[in-house]
Amino acid sequence: MAERETLRCQLAVIGGGAAGLMAALEAARRGLDVIVVDRRDELGGNVAQAAGHAAFESAEQRARRVPLTKDAGYQALLEMSDWKASPSLLSRFVERSSEVVDRLLALGVHYDKVIAIDPVHQLATSHLPVGRMRAVVEALSAELERLGVRIYRGYRAEELEVAAGAISAVRARNDGGAELFIQPAAALIATGGYASNPQLLRRYAGLFSVASAGIGSDTGDGLTLATTAGGHASSLIGAVLVAATTNGRPLTDHVSCTAVQPTLWVDQSGRRFCNEAMALALYRVGDIVARLGQGYAWSIFDQRQIDKLTHSGARRGMGSAVLPGTKLTKLREQLQEDLDQGETAFRADSLEELAGLIGVDVSSFIDEVSQYHDACAEGMDRRFFKTQNLEPLLHPPFYAIRMEPVALCTTGAIEVDEFLRVLDHFGNPIGGLYAAGNDAAGAWGKAATTTIGGAPAGFALTSGLLAAEHAAGWCQRR
Ligand SMILES: Cc1cc2nc3c(=O)[nH]c(=O)nc-3n(C[C@H](O)[C@H](O)[C@H](O)COP(=O)(O)OP(=O)(O)OC[C@H]3O[C@@H](n4cnc5c(N)ncnc54)[C@H](O)[C@@H]3O)c2cc1C
Repeated sequence: MAERETLRCQLAVIGGGAAGLMAALEAARRGLDVIVVDRRDELGGNVAQAAGHAAFESAEQRARRVPLTKDAGYQALLEMSDWKASPSLLSRFVERSSEVVDRLLALGVHYDKVIAIDPVHQLATSHLPVGRMRAVVEALSAELERLGVRIYRGYRAEELEVAAGAISAVRARNDGGAELFIQPAAALIATGGYASNPQLLRRYAGLFSVASAGIGSDTGDGLTLATTAGGHASSLIGAVLVAATTNGRPLTDHVSCTAVQPTLWVDQSGRRFCNEAMALALYRVGDIVARLGQGYAWSIFDQRQIDKLTHSGARRGMGSAVLPGTKLTKLREQLQEDLDQGETAFRADSLEELAGLIGVDVSSFIDEVSQYHDACAEGMDRRFFKTQNLEPLLHPPFYAIRMEPVALCTTGAIEVDEFLRVLDHFGNPIGGLYAAGNDAAGAWGKAATTTIGGAPAGFALTSGLLAAEHAAGWCQRR
């Protein structure tokens, strides 16, 4: 018979990623008895793959004389959300995010850069730790261990129980069927959203055939847990951050970064479909490509452009994973691997031959390239109003690299208030139940507004801290 262990604690944290680890630390610092469960054997979730996190008016920004105010950050985020973000939740994120930096500095995390990645607003929000966010995960995990927090790896939370309007139990199981029956005073849902759940992506974000860029643990468990416990799924559930890569490669690969350079892009009919300079507006690319009928597009290059990327650097970066201006020194080798596979990259001596290899109508493609060359000569593409990055394709061989959308994270699912309390269908908090990070709705509105550098990870860490702070008060009153 499978074993069952009954445990008591003050705060049960479901998910040991950005939000969960920060919440566990804050709660333990406040003297709470904390249990963390994570479905994986390794802590860190998707944030372990991330590069940086956002904060406003932090010690690191002050030390670097970054002229960014909380006011400017708040206004930009609210505006980008099309005024749909919850003003009170957003304001608490912006107001308190610098405390996350203070906590991490105290744990020995060092930052080597604070950068802007959004070309429109140019807000230097993204704090890049040495060792990137994996170093943050390691620092937080080590501190939790030092504080004696009980961590159960390989346990997936499957059910929440609510009694008399308040959380009463969390059930989690491991692959062997062993069950943890946890009876906490408070519980935090921090399972990382639903980017790896194709059904939910389709239903809530209208996205088809979009793979996840993450580790696959973000299957929307938090949403199911919350709604079955009486929580309300927000109408702002559809905000998804979609980037584009190639051949299932990570964002950090140089051939992925090449795929999204603002050269000439065509869809499956061989026609252009947008102003490719939008590639400079991070995460808009994946979104528009995802909405093309076939769900992918081709980036076309000549040899000189490929050489320039290697020797002079990329025009567009991949968020904080590959910064703009980086020389793509691994491109030649990675591109050759993809050319050898012959599915997502092709090379040809003529544009006609290239069109045949990627399966687009040859005459439409050649006609499109010819119109593009006219636009390059004029310095203005009148169809999509492209005025920058207009370069003709003149130097064979020519290349086509397939650009495929990938979901980085979903933002928004569970309706919460500014204290991260899960709300029921009437807007009342469910006693002691919290949601944070990608699971919490409200900070971004419906649009993918999280293009401000490090916003998702910054929000996850800060919301974890804020949820734990409120939970500490709840536990004291119980
Ligand atoms: C490749 C990549 C790069 C990124 N780069 C950046 C970046 O540079 N800056 C940025 O701001 N954001 C970035 N993001 C997004 C960022 O990683 C997320 O927004 C952030 O991790 C969200 O934190 P979270 O705590 O909500 O989820 P996570 O950090 O993913 O943690 C969720 C945890 O919950 C666990 N879990 C899930 N279900 C259960 C369950 N039922 N029971 C128990 N445990 C469960 C998971 O195993 C995981 O450990 C990136 C994402 C990806 C995929």
